[in-house]
Amino acid sequence: MKSVLIIGAGGVGRVVVYKCLENRDTFQNITLASRTLDKCKQIQNEVGKENLNIAKVDADNTQELIDLINQIKPDLVINVALPYQDLSIMEACLQTRTHYLDTANYEHPDSAKFEYKEQWAFDQKYKDANIMALLGSGFDPGVTNVFCAYLQKHYFDEIEEIDIFDCNDGDHGYAFATNFNPEINLREVSANGRYWQDGKWIETKPMEICINWDYPQIGKRKSYLLYHEELESLIKHIKGLRRIRFFMTFSDNYLTHMRCLENVGMLGIKEIEHNGCKIVPIQFLKTLLPDPATLGKRTKGKTNIGVVAKGKKDSKEKRLYIYNVSDHEKCYKETLSQAVSYTTGVGAVVGAKLMMQNIWLKRGVYNLEELDPDPFMKELNLCGLPWEIKELLN
Ligand code: NDP
Repeated sequence: MKSVLIIGAGGVGRVVVYKCLENRDTFQNITLASRTLDKCKQIQNEVGKENLNIAKVDADNTQELIDLINQIKPDLVINVALPYQDLSIMEACLQTRTHYLDTANYEHPDSAKFEYKEQWAFDQKYKDANIMALLGSGFDPGVTNVFCAYLQKHYFDEIEEIDIFDCNDGDHGYAFATNFNPEINLREVSANGRYWQDGKWIETKPMEICINWDYPQIGKRKSYLLYHEELESLIKHIKGLRRIRFFMTFSDNYLTHMRCLENVGMLGIKEIEHNGCKIVPIQFLKTLLPDPATLGKRTKGKTNIGVVAKGKKDSKEKRLYIYNVSDHEKCYKETLSQAVSYTTGVGAVVGAKLMMQNIWLKRGVYNLEELDPDPFMKELNLCGLPWEIKELLN
């Protein structure tokens, strides 16, 4: 009997609930807790009261989390709230000796910067408590890390270069909206870019490097270099790596809106005074923008996220592309969520399943590429994220 506590009733949380229910042989007892109980209730109404318990929790408050965990006694906490809550939830798991999984790197609300340092610092404490934390088990990070580990295990003696390509070609019909939490999304996209080459980080201005990448089943799309969190762990764990970069597509329309919002100060993360109230501009903008959880039924088109690796096998050079294509409408039909939430939620549930089935269960703090990729790759095919691999000629 495995019991799971899911924290965060947003777009990803909904997919995690649906997919845990699809894997009832692993997750018998499922609770969804979030800051706004009504959002949990809505998901509970969709799946049936008998299938999902709900609770209200402020995940910034470690003691509240500890009380809830002690009451439910889950085997695993799946954190799909926001990156700001990673440390408080990890601490609550430590104090209650409960396994932990998340999909996004810790970020402090007051500085748009993310790094694994503070989460990796839990490693010895988690080892001593005989529990595991699996960090970044979404799609990117998550599946992309496993793609790299899989290529390293089966196709290369040494990987010299990795490029991660993330294309969301979905159209929701709004002039401007983000496909996951607007605050997190806009902070990520408007920050400086960064990639790693020959042992050091090279910083770029936002959107400074752009290439026209040809995505299978989608076509050529402008793809911009961003810093993304999986780069930090992959440079530690992939043998022989000389360069790693991350690219994401943005339409000209999206970038024009974003630049305009930035120019007028709407992406600000510092509190300002407005008519006697204190507001944070980017949080106010989030209130105005469509809730990503409501985009699902309007979104048409596909996503394609994958990894291109260049390296050597038996002294012969080769270049391989491994990717998944997901269809927004198909994802919505299955889980009432668009493909960005879907691909993230499936990554979380596959990681959770392997932990709970004792296949990936270890002591300490791990990123996905440190674990055997084979069972994860197999589960992806079964859980709704089939992948393809092909050789690139140039
Ligand atoms: P949403 O904003 O849709 O959902 C987040 C949920 O967390 C909301 O229901 C929110 O509650 C809840 N929440 C926020 N703060 C708290 C708190 N203090 N206590 C309890 N609940 C809280 O985001 P998404 O579902 O789109 O994203 C979820 C996570 O997944 C994020 O961390 C995001 O960065 C990550 N992600 C990872 C990806 C990957 O591939 N690795 C890709 C996409 C997202 P309320 O409704 O009250 O605001």
